[in-house]
Amino acid sequence: MRFPDWMVGRLFEPAWDFYEGSVRLRTYRELARHQFDAPAVLEVRRQERLNALVRHAAAASPFHRRRLEVAGIDPATVRSISDLGNLPLLTKADVRGSIEEILAASHPRANLVSAKTGGSTGTAMHVFCDWRGFGMRQGAALLADTWSGWRLGQPMGAVWGNPPRADTFRRRLRRVLKDRFFYLDTMRLDGAAVREFAARWRHLRPSLLYGHAHSLYLLATMLEEMGEVLRPRAIVATSMMLLQPERNIIERVFAVPVTNRYGCEEVGLIACECERHVGLHINAEHVALEVLRDDGTPCDPGEDGRIVVTEFVNFGMPMLRYEVGDRGVLHDRPCPCGRPHPLLRTVTGRTADFLVAADGSRVAGISLIENTLTRYPGIAQLQVVQEDVGRIDLNVVRAAGWDEAVEKALVLAFRESLGGDPSVILHFRDAIPPEPNGKYRFSICRVPGVRTGV
Ligand SMILES: [Zn+2]
Repeated sequence: MRFPDWMVGRLFEPAWDFYEGSVRLRTYRELARHQFDAPAVLEVRRQERLNALVRHAAAASPFHRRRLEVAGIDPATVRSISDLGNLPLLTKADVRGSIEEILAASHPRANLVSAKTGGSTGTAMHVFCDWRGFGMRQGAALLADTWSGWRLGQPMGAVWGNPPRADTFRRRLRRVLKDRFFYLDTMRLDGAAVREFAARWRHLRPSLLYGHAHSLYLLATMLEEMGEVLRPRAIVATSMMLLQPERNIIERVFAVPVTNRYGCEEVGLIACECERHVGLHINAEHVALEVLRDDGTPCDPGEDGRIVVTEFVNFGMPMLRYEVGDRGVLHDRPCPCGRPHPLLRTVTGRTADFLVAADGSRVAGISLIENTLTRYPGIAQLQVVQEDVGRIDLNVVRAAGWDEAVEKALVLAFRESLGGDPSVILHFRDAIPPEPNGKYRFSICRVPGVRTGV
């Protein structure tokens, strides 16, 4: 059964929010209404939200109360993120080790939405969000979806690892009425699965193609090889690993711009591109984002640093100055679209996966890979693994144009970037396998004893 898009968007979606008591659509409409406010108007709301969050955290969370006291911060006076400059960063180790003390006593655990993260690092971490905050996160994500050109009620095709299953009556009902997703499971990405996905696409005619960046790239190349043509009206890539060369191929094959988005389970949506695609608008209504140097001082725009997020909307598990574990760069100017939310120019990779140069400095492996893919022919995919400062392993998926000269240039490029004449060992692969959580990592650093700050 297929309901018309307008019926899903205008009737089933609001009815479901009412049934669940969610503020998702209310938040979405409010954010949509305010998305072109003047920067000063947005700033007033941000100050109020930050102040309310910090006062709440001091009152309800023993962990934050103690830290604020030690840092000599009076919660009532906090207006901007710089007022929290003396507060130590909240690390993943803090979250793992002190979760009971971080959770707000005001919110019973049974009423919190829980999630498990950290599949790619091998150490699981449990995080929580109160129900209202969870709805607000979903509302912000909906607004970001509309920046791609998608409209509420329209179906989506998703490229995803281990997609969720409709295994209860409630979930089946929800899927029939409003969750208009269909999936291509990236854990089993082969010709037959892609053909079936393409057939369902033509039947359901979704407007949005959604998925991890590299999975979208793989789908694009497979469709092209098979001579299949899909025409989404919008594409949302939900991973920081949107490599520019892969983006170019996705946009060429599907003939539509990619909307890049950055977020995580711990604090929800952090930033998303608008229709101008000049950077990622920070989700400034809901989060404060800092980019910090290793000594803790704020980076200038254009300067690479550690990403630290304070989320305003989760009162169940207040996240003050949470170190996400990624690095990024702020933009030095506002977006021409006129929205007041500042731009993050790019996410440069996971802090832990920056490579280590011979002189001990850290090198963005993702940037090296982007440059390499752009410069040399004959490389379809590339993954760098560093087990030791003196050794680099490159997993290479070759394409037409690969030859000895490319091989030599590739080895030289990595040697020069890291210094100290490391051995660079090439492994020719058919594909780069995904992590157990369905995501891909292109730069993996396993050098022992390296301080990653998380
Ligand atoms: Zn914009």
